[in-house]
Amino acid sequence: MTIDLKNQVYIITGSGRGIGLEIAKAFAENNCTVILSDYNEDSLAHAQKIFDESGYHYRAIACDITKEDHVENLVDKTFNEFGKIDGLINNAGITRDNLLIRMKNDQWDAVIDTNLKGVFLTSRAVAKYFLKQRYGKIINIASVVGLIGNASQANYSSSKAGVIGFTKSIAKELGSRNVTANAIAPGFIETEMTHVLSDKAKDEFLKNIPMKRPGKPKDVANAALFLASSMADYITGQVLTVDGGMVM
Ligand code: NDP
Repeated sequence: MTIDLKNQVYIITGSGRGIGLEIAKAFAENNCTVILSDYNEDSLAHAQKIFDESGYHYRAIACDITKEDHVENLVDKTFNEFGKIDGLINNAGITRDNLLIRMKNDQWDAVIDTNLKGVFLTSRAVAKYFLKQRYGKIINIASVVGLIGNASQANYSSSKAGVIGFTKSIAKELGSRNVTANAIAPGFIETEMTHVLSDKAKDEFLKNIPMKRPGKPKDVANAALFLASSMADYITGQVLTVDGGMVM
């Protein structure tokens, strides 16, 4: 069975670069209309250039997922233009790592606001349309550290554990209307987010990966494609780890 997302419309947050951009490209390659979205204008322009050059079908809408009015605009504009929304990929996320006793309130708040409240705002905004459509897929990019924790990432791990609890709750709430919600928990993936890690931290991750190599954004994009495809229509409330076996 091939994956064909023809005539489908997916919103992908934080798709200006990194994993989000890779997911956006993979979806567009499979004939999906992609709503590129990011709060960074340079990242968004960069993604648009790639999409223009590749002839992909897309719209670009700037959106800071921590701002309710931005989120409502993103979702309403998409629905008003296309008359439907097939899916939402909550990908935008940030880190503000620090040891617990040194962690500043603003480091805690920024991560929870983006990674958890942002996911709530976007999911609530699409859910009103999904319930009416009696169809929709929410795919949340969590993290393995939401399952196992990580030193210096109490804020980030809490946000991602929250995303997993949120995913399961809304899967239960929306399932009877044919709306699914699943999470992908990537392990150590090569992007700008992990580029800044020290060699020691990278070695530590690699030691715990049975496959002895980091993952690529494409690995996460493939998992998202599967969850978006009709092959995953009866899968909801699940966490799919994409981590070379780090967590099992
Ligand atoms: P990047 O930092 O490379 O990309 C994140 C993107 O999200 C950027 O384009 C960023 O914009 C955007 N973004 C951040 N905050 C907001 C906001 N408030 N509103 C809209 N867009 C925003 O990260 P990755 O691609 O590595 O990560 C993507 C997702 O995958 C995240 O949720 C992350 O937590 C998760 N993840 C990543 C792993 C990894 O190893 N890389 C492992 C596990 C999970 P800007 O360009 O301005 O920064």
